[in-house]
Amino acid sequence: MGISLDSPITALRGIGKERSRAFAKLGISCVSDLLYHFPRAYEHRGNVKLLANAENGEVCSFILTVATEPVLRTVRRGMTLVKFRAFDDSGTAHITFFNQPFVRDVFKMGKVFRFYGKLVREGRTNYLSAPAYEPYKEGEPLPDLVPIYPMTEGLSRKIVELSVSKALDYTISQIEDPLPSHIREGHQLCVLSYAIRQIHRPDSFETLSVAVRRLVFDEYFTFSLGIMLSAAGRTRSRAPVCINTDLSDFTALLPFDLTGAQKKVIDDIRRDMAGNGQYALRMSRIVVGDVGSGKTVCAAAAIYIAVKNGLQAALMAPTEILARQHYNDLSPLLRKLGIRCALLVGSTKAVEKRQIYQSLNDTDREDLTDVVIGTHALLEEGVKFHNLGLVVTDEQHRFGVFQRAALSEKGEDAHVLVMSATPIPRTLALIMYGDLDISTIDTLPPGRQRVETFVVNESYRERLFRFVRKQVAEGGQVYIVCPSIEENEPEVDETSGEVALFPAESRESIPPLKAAVDYAKMLSTEVFPDLSLSFLHGKMKPAEKERVMCDFAEGKIDILVSTTVIEVGVNVPNASLMIIENAERFGLSQLHQLRGRVGRGTRKSYCVLVSDEKGETARQRLEAMRTIYDGYTIAEKDLALRGPGDFFAMTDRGGRIRQHGGVKFRLAGRSDDTDIMQAAFADARMLQKTDPDLILPEHAGLKKKVRDLMNINELTMN
Ligand code: ADP
Ligand code: MG
Repeated sequence: MGISLDSPITALRGIGKERSRAFAKLGISCVSDLLYHFPRAYEHRGNVKLLANAENGEVCSFILTVATEPVLRTVRRGMTLVKFRAFDDSGTAHITFFNQPFVRDVFKMGKVFRFYGKLVREGRTNYLSAPAYEPYKEGEPLPDLVPIYPMTEGLSRKIVELSVSKALDYTISQIEDPLPSHIREGHQLCVLSYAIRQIHRPDSFETLSVAVRRLVFDEYFTFSLGIMLSAAGRTRSRAPVCINTDLSDFTALLPFDLTGAQKKVIDDIRRDMAGNGQYALRMSRIVVGDVGSGKTVCAAAAIYIAVKNGLQAALMAPTEILARQHYNDLSPLLRKLGIRCALLVGSTKAVEKRQIYQSLNDTDREDLTDVVIGTHALLEEGVKFHNLGLVVTDEQHRFGVFQRAALSEKGEDAHVLVMSATPIPRTLALIMYGDLDISTIDTLPPGRQRVETFVVNESYRERLFRFVRKQVAEGGQVYIVCPSIEENEPEVDETSGEVALFPAESRESIPPLKAAVDYAKMLSTEVFPDLSLSFLHGKMKPAEKERVMCDFAEGKIDILVSTTVIEVGVNVPNASLMIIENAERFGLSQLHQLRGRVGRGTRKSYCVLVSDEKGETARQRLEAMRTIYDGYTIAEKDLALRGPGDFFAMTDRGGRIRQHGGVKFRLAGRSDDTDIMQAAFADARMLQKTDPDLILPEHAGLKKKVRDLMNINELTMN
């Protein structure tokens, strides 16, 4: 039976039902998924030493000859040991294996093996405990770098290695390179099959980096094509014409004058929605602007225009608290203009939900709800519109790139307006939002206070806690943010001798959730036992998170300790101090976002970045935060220093992650990616000009890749 790239993994010997279920947890179902299951690190087994030359505790390889007959002993019930000695020119090591009785027959006296493991020396005796081993023969070189794969429960290291290995052996010759050769040659990229083979079985560090470069290019290239393809699919459709775009009633009700930047954005929106008066194409526009630049009022203007032209509008926010906030801000204003609004969120009672459903689809104009503001609840099946003409989504990166369309499907050809959460560099915006027209708000409303920013180290701890007390005593509220990842991706252990696929700096180790939990506990019991303190983290249920956020917003909580899950966009004007622990672990843009949580009211506000990091780049980065307040300048710096990964990433995890908001990149996202990303984007655009729908036969492979990417990302969302 032939095994092909599309074969289910169960076609491989050794993978049955149970294992295939375990593999499914890693997103692996067919043979080609195995090929794309890239190592997270490598063991540098090519680092061979003589026993006498290795340090106590060093992890490396030794080439040793078995010196004694292995002895099998049962120590206690169910526990066996195999022991023997082996030597090289410099000395002898005692080697032990646990619960692997069969190895007794592997290690025959006089045979030579390459052992890899941690050398422990007690006195003058060397010990190796359960080392990895490979038979060694002069003149038959063993691999330098041995992959370590991301794992999951139910799979052993051996099984994953073997399965990938089999997949390679069976199908490497079947891999066709979908990348047109002129593009490949233009950037001196290796062919795909070489890249795939090298990332699993690298000949050397050099060939590995050649492979990674090619695969990173592919990720950006496919992503860019995907964005362009969905753009092409959308912009062609017609949408309702909104001729009546006079906003004077609307602006008269605003408590402030629109800034020039806001006016420009609203003009863009008006022009899109009006079309040429008889004919309009669907608006697909994103409003990009710094925190607090006033994006919401632009959305409100669009909503007003839609309703004024006899259409309904929907505004979707990623969380209930944000949806409520929008509802509370917008509905009074819209009501004054005679517009009926409803709030529809997950916790809305069933009876009320039904009423809202009805009022949205009421053909009798009398009772029709014009504007509905809500969360994912808007996507529920019961929600049907009579005449949906505009869909606004806030903080869209939470919804995923290829999901933008979901709500607009509810109105056959509704205009689409997206409000971004973060300022991002223009180059990146063109790529990430390649399917949207971009409007930028580049100035803040007048009179904004600057959040005074300090960078301090541990020696300031006591003063800092006193400052917290002072803020609370004066009636302010405090955020304390700590970095933390959920405990699911094992970090590379530097002391283990492993070589990360991406070396050091980019894979900073981030303390697990537990550290943050303990810290919060310590603060509440030892430091601020008399204050009201709550803890917010990613493992909490959404409803619980909402509760805590609401309590904080209502002033019931003095100090909110949180991992980075605190909601982007949440407005608590009374909060006056933001403390960020281990600040060196955050991207600048993320720090900027966090800082934007304070200084939203009249209270003089502060941001304190706590870091003991002494490294020069880290200091420089934090120093930049102290002196730069403009989100765009910060974003540009961030892109240069950390690469685009953080911009694609969801904000609630922090640090290095491979699961990106909307897009699952495996390798892309690092600081030295920017050039390759732009090259990939430029080439994708060229290709798209010659074959917009990828229908040429030579682009069939590409099209499949793009489709797969878009499908995967639709499935992995939410
Ligand atoms: P963001 O762009 O972060 O979503 P918002 O739309 O929430 O910002 O606006 C932040 C605050 O600025 C709100 O309180 C809003 O009322 C206020 N605001 C918006 N536009 C102006 C303006 N032109 N002049 C003064 N205040 C404004
Ligand atoms: Mg906002």
